[in-house]
Amino acid sequence: MSNPSEFPAIARQDPEVHRILTAEVQRQANCLELIASENHVSRAVLEAVGSVLTNKYAEGYPGKRYYGGCEFVDQIEELARERARQLFGCEHVNVQPHSGSQANMAAFMAVLNPGDTILSLDLAHGGHLTHGLKANFSGRLYNIVHYGVARDKEVFDFDEIRRLARECKPRMIVTGASAYPRTIDFAAFAQIAREVGAYLMADIAHIAGLVATGLHPSPVPHADFVTTTTHKTLRGPRSGMIMCKAEHAKAVDSRIFPGIQGGPLMHVVAGKAVAFGEALRPEFKDYQQRILANAQALAKGLIGFGYRLVSGGTDNHLMLVDLRQVHADITGKQAEGWLESAGLIVNKNMIPFDERKPTETSGLRIGTPAVTTRGLGPAEMQKVAEWIHEVLAARGAESVVRTVREQVLGMCKRFPMPH
Ligand SMILES: *Cc1c(COP(=O)(O)O)cnc(C)c1O
Repeated sequence: MSNPSEFPAIARQDPEVHRILTAEVQRQANCLELIASENHVSRAVLEAVGSVLTNKYAEGYPGKRYYGGCEFVDQIEELARERARQLFGCEHVNVQPHSGSQANMAAFMAVLNPGDTILSLDLAHGGHLTHGLKANFSGRLYNIVHYGVARDKEVFDFDEIRRLARECKPRMIVTGASAYPRTIDFAAFAQIAREVGAYLMADIAHIAGLVATGLHPSPVPHADFVTTTTHKTLRGPRSGMIMCKAEHAKAVDSRIFPGIQGGPLMHVVAGKAVAFGEALRPEFKDYQQRILANAQALAKGLIGFGYRLVSGGTDNHLMLVDLRQVHADITGKQAEGWLESAGLIVNKNMIPFDERKPTETSGLRIGTPAVTTRGLGPAEMQKVAEWIHEVLAARGAESVVRTVREQVLGMCKRFPMPH
């Protein structure tokens, strides 16, 4: 599967690193990647990220750098920005954030002071670390108030969010999630933000590919700041990006540099330009549609085996399985481990109002972006649901895991990696 000459220079000079890299190439090829936040980038994106642009310092912005020799990196950053504006229709974009977390940090710092109140989604209900975890910079710097999902329907309850907003008078409302399977009504969040005079930030790290192709409503017309990663559904290099209204352009740019970062990773900026170019093609919308169709098929398969999905299903690329319904005794941690042995890579995840600890959990988060990139379709998703159920029903029994592992390997051979 893996090509041993994939890293020829490393093979010659560093057998230790070569052995590890090759093992990881094989792991990715021989497992089905169902982690909702991961994907397989194209060979073109890999080439950009592996290019000599990694050698270049380019502190500053195109035309205003603190280093010489920036003629071509200026062009690549301009291209990435132009393509991002075309994809999302935003007024201003900064493509330099090293990651989604850096994007969020800079967006907060653009308009907030330490101690200001942020109203954001609870982590245990699908939010992200940077939306106010105590141990994260966000929880340390700002006064965090959380909203969650309603206990009955497990979706956002805008009356409750409005009540909280009126009560805590936040300087900023943050929406967007790492584990929310339903469509987010950005207009409704914007309405509440307007009512209480708060800024609105939408973090579309997970759903950026769906937003770019019009398969999920865009927050761009509604939010002051839209942050994202570029490596999840958007299928670019591991990185981040901030979009904002023109009035915040200067603040955002100066918070990224010199505020929280030094030189941009120009090889990764090049990777973003390449990925955005891919995302502008009609095939990319087709890919996003197949992600959604696969999520529907997988959800249907799991429901067929009796599993309860948080909120009853999914509108996007991911679903949260409540394990308690079928296997009250199995934790998300155990399930994750057994499935990994079978070559099915998922992650344990809190479900709303989970009674187990975040290190145990009662749920699994499962997503379809990466397997869709490999070309799996709805029929294969039905198979995957079956395998998940077999492994869990057998509580990870070795003989069952071995049989499923072989079938997963067979499927991996039928659907080789995209490069
Ligand atoms: C993944 C994610 C991020 C952060 O991304 P990193 O690149 O890992 O820092 C931020 N927000 C949300 C909602 C995410 O899901």
